[in-house]
Amino acid sequence: MADVVAAIDQGTTSTRCMLFDRSGTEVSRHQLEHEQILPERGWVEHNPVEIWERSVSVLQTAVNRARIAPSDIAALGITNQRETTLVWNRRTGRPYYNAIVWQDTRTDRIAARLEREGHGEVIRQKAGIPPATYFAAGKLQWILENVDGVRAAAESGEAIFGTTDCWLLWNLTGGPRGGVHITDVTNASRTMLMNLTTLDWDDELLGFFDIPRQMLPEIRPSSDPNLYGTTSDDGPLGGAVPIAGALGDQHAAMVGQVCLEAGEAKNTYGTGNFLLMNTGEELVRSRNGLLSTVCYQFGDAKPVYALEGSIAVTGSAIQWLRDQLRIIADAADSERLAAGVKDNGGVYFVPAFSGLFAPYWRSDARGVIAGLSRFNHRGHIARATLEAICYQSKDVVEAMEADSGVHLDVLKVDGGVTANSLCMQIQSDVLGVDVVRPEVSETTALGAAYAAGLATGFWSDVSELRENWHEDTRWSPTWTDEQRRTGHTRWKKAVERTLDWVDL
Ligand code: ADP
Repeated sequence: MADVVAAIDQGTTSTRCMLFDRSGTEVSRHQLEHEQILPERGWVEHNPVEIWERSVSVLQTAVNRARIAPSDIAALGITNQRETTLVWNRRTGRPYYNAIVWQDTRTDRIAARLEREGHGEVIRQKAGIPPATYFAAGKLQWILENVDGVRAAAESGEAIFGTTDCWLLWNLTGGPRGGVHITDVTNASRTMLMNLTTLDWDDELLGFFDIPRQMLPEIRPSSDPNLYGTTSDDGPLGGAVPIAGALGDQHAAMVGQVCLEAGEAKNTYGTGNFLLMNTGEELVRSRNGLLSTVCYQFGDAKPVYALEGSIAVTGSAIQWLRDQLRIIADAADSERLAAGVKDNGGVYFVPAFSGLFAPYWRSDARGVIAGLSRFNHRGHIARATLEAICYQSKDVVEAMEADSGVHLDVLKVDGGVTANSLCMQIQSDVLGVDVVRPEVSETTALGAAYAAGLATGFWSDVSELRENWHEDTRWSPTWTDEQRRTGHTRWKKAVERTLDWVDL
């Protein structure tokens, strides 16, 4: 009997593969970064071929490190950076253009026009999300309008669209020699093209972006006992492994954190931050700037929905300190530097590099560092950056509590930035509640493994998954209420200064 489930986590900065055993314990992993292509201000691209090659390498290396044969792998799941948009040729497998990444803001005029023309409300109603550069449809429209030959090829059925889950799935199942063109319902819910109630592509939404329906993948449950397909014999594993689960990264993290009951929530700290709360079978519409999204759908059960607060820039602000300001040598340095000062020295940094996402949704915002005096140095900037991660999360928690009526008395966290203990302490201070991190902090990969393993019977039901969740670290508040109030008021003032910066 096969002993492990594999997951490929195709993230924004890197791709990793992890193998898990039945207790949800990691058996092996491998991870590789890929290039961030920044051709113009506001543009962010990835090379799809590099992403596929990295995925092959991490899968093969993780399997080799575990010293197992492909036949020991019960199932493979995929999780991925969401919204990142690819178009490729079904016959040759060649991409027509680089992947346009979720952070890319080149479609700001497309998003602004949708609002101006009065389509915003229909999009919010049907897709659960506001017109914004963030989602895939505008990026796909941009490729159709700006890359030679794509529109004609799309109309003839030769050019096909997918997010990175779909791209990997197509390649893993044989690519031009019969690869399946499938995406899961959570990834589809981030396109602005899927109707959240029917779980199908919606003709009116397709019309807003002038997108030919035949280029879109089939939408399937996130955990699919009918399997999406099997890895091809001449593929990276050299044998047929069932591929049975796929989820956008934040949805996968919900499953990995076993937030499977209404009211359960988690915050993932990666390149950006994503706080999701399970709302059960009820599709809750936000009045406070959050998104409605499909949390997951397991087999033929009804879909489970979530409210989401997405924040564009959190961990990537740490990368900015490293790569652009060069005041730290690596991400962990941010903690040392920030720990060297007793507080932020009056400095507030709002990293609105790609506008502000939840709960503000202002594409016209740009970053500010406010409150500087001659006294300040890089320690304060580092501290203000960590605080920015936490204050942005606080704004989302407030919106979440207002929308759901649920008070979060503890926040489950995961993601790369949670390695920064000072940042997690500040998060607890800013929110005034406990923050807890589980033993397996790679909840995204774990969630994709769970989806695949549930579909194939490796795990029999979700109660087994619950038993696998164990607390590792807990941070409790140390600030006074007064500190918390003053800090948040100052932060809000700094946020106001980011607005109305760019004319759209
Ligand atoms: P993603 O899946 O979005 O690529 P990860 O969960 O791998 O993200 O997290 C990577 C992010 O975490 C990077 O933006 C990096 O700057 C940040 N990061 C990693 N370690 C630390 C640390 N010790 N302190 C602060 N940020 C960190």
